[in-house]
Amino acid sequence: MIYSFLNQKGGVGKTTLSIHTASEFARRGQKVLLIDADPQGSALAWSNFRESPEFTVVGMPKATIHKEIEMLAEDYDHVVIDGPPRVTELARSIILASDIVIIPLQPSPMDVWASAETVDLVKEAQTFRPKIKVCMAVNRKIANTAIGRDVRKALKELKVPVLKSDIGQRVAYAESAAIGSTVLGKRMSKPAQEVKKFVNELRRIT
Ligand code: ADP
Ligand code: MG
Repeated sequence: MIYSFLNQKGGVGKTTLSIHTASEFARRGQKVLLIDADPQGSALAWSNFRESPEFTVVGMPKATIHKEIEMLAEDYDHVVIDGPPRVTELARSIILASDIVIIPLQPSPMDVWASAETVDLVKEAQTFRPKIKVCMAVNRKIANTAIGRDVRKALKELKVPVLKSDIGQRVAYAESAAIGSTVLGKRMSKPAQEVKKFVNELRRIT
């Protein structure tokens, strides 16, 4: 199964969610390939900090991913693609390579508007590849805030399913990434639990 995290907007959590999704699969004993398709290479940089590589990370910011994906995915149970912001040709190629495109966004009206462009790109690809799935994922949710609730209402206009499992605003995501790690080490911690739920939901809908 090929999961890509894509949003033309930067800073929404593509890399954070890619790293955590890939790491969670690896913890479950599955063979994972993480493709860093962002020319900035943040996932690749993260992986260079890791002490024990649990899975393979490759840098491939090329608009030919959809042509090469079958060969790349051959030896893996799951492939996770960390997408770039802005680069439309690359985004199109990533969408065509995907079984499911996950569009992360933060709970703000600005992020909802900015995500519409990515939704349109997916819809365009679906006209000739209707099997490609798409969903929105709310990242950096602050519990019990009006904006957290309102974002779901605003998202209805995009007419794309929204994952039930939100990812919260937690310093642990930023701190762990900075040292080549994830929040998954402490299995019973709140962040580890929410990532598990998130990945379970992704598995259910694919
Ligand atoms: P993108 O790949 O879409 O540009 P990143 O995953 O790099 O976004 O996230 C942007 C910044 O926000 C990073 O510094 C990251 O550590 C931080 N961040 C992302 N998600 C969260 C979260 N749920 N809680 C706290 N910080 C987060
Ligand atoms: Mg990124």
